[in-house]
Amino acid sequence: MSERVQIAIDGHSSTGKSTLAKALAKYLNILYLDSGAMYRAVALYQMEHNLSDQDLINRLEQLEVSFNAKNEICLNGKMVENEIRKMEVSNRVSGVAQIPEVRKKLVELQQKVPQSVVMDGRDIGTVVFPKAQLKLFMTASPEIRAERRYNELRSKGEEVSLKEVLENIKTRDFQDENRTTDPLRVAEDAVYFDNSDLSLDEQLHKAIQLYHERA
Ligand code: C5P
Repeated sequence: MSERVQIAIDGHSSTGKSTLAKALAKYLNILYLDSGAMYRAVALYQMEHNLSDQDLINRLEQLEVSFNAKNEICLNGKMVENEIRKMEVSNRVSGVAQIPEVRKKLVELQQKVPQSVVMDGRDIGTVVFPKAQLKLFMTASPEIRAERRYNELRSKGEEVSLKEVLENIKTRDFQDENRTTDPLRVAEDAVYFDNSDLSLDEQLHKAIQLYHERA
């Protein structure tokens, strides 16, 4: 593979973007990168230090968001993969993701990835990699997404209700679609991918087919 491959998988919260992105990256033997984890890490930092948005902006330069050799998210060198998935962070992250300075910092980091990559997020096809060879926009009904997320959180031992998860998903969809900077939009050349009724194998098969058609 001589040309650098960029694959953008965007869409609503808990649509299974990361599961498909990871499977596709593995199949193509390229890097997978979870841009949402980066926003979650910044939200965790704000929460842990009890910072106002302005205080967070003032400290952004000192804030290091990175991935370790196991592709786990790190905040100033400390692995925080488990902390960033908690409900408390989910409830805060879309607010943090509205801050233009935060977006600028993270988009720049994402664009610096030097190798072929499958990246999932909200603005990958529209802002981060506008020239990506393949752009998918994933969605599924809020109820199906909430059930998947609820099962995932419960399996990790987190005490949440299905209602709480559904509300969080709807609120994040609204905030992500309505923020001023880089809102969640379907890129013009994206393929719309409703996976409500598709198994992971079926999704992967479809994504591989689309990649070969377009790349
Ligand atoms: O993908 P995930 O649900 O973990 O992302 C958490 C939040 O981070 C999203 O709800 C969204 O507010 C924000 N995000 C974003 N742009 C991205 C990735 C995530 O605004 N590229």
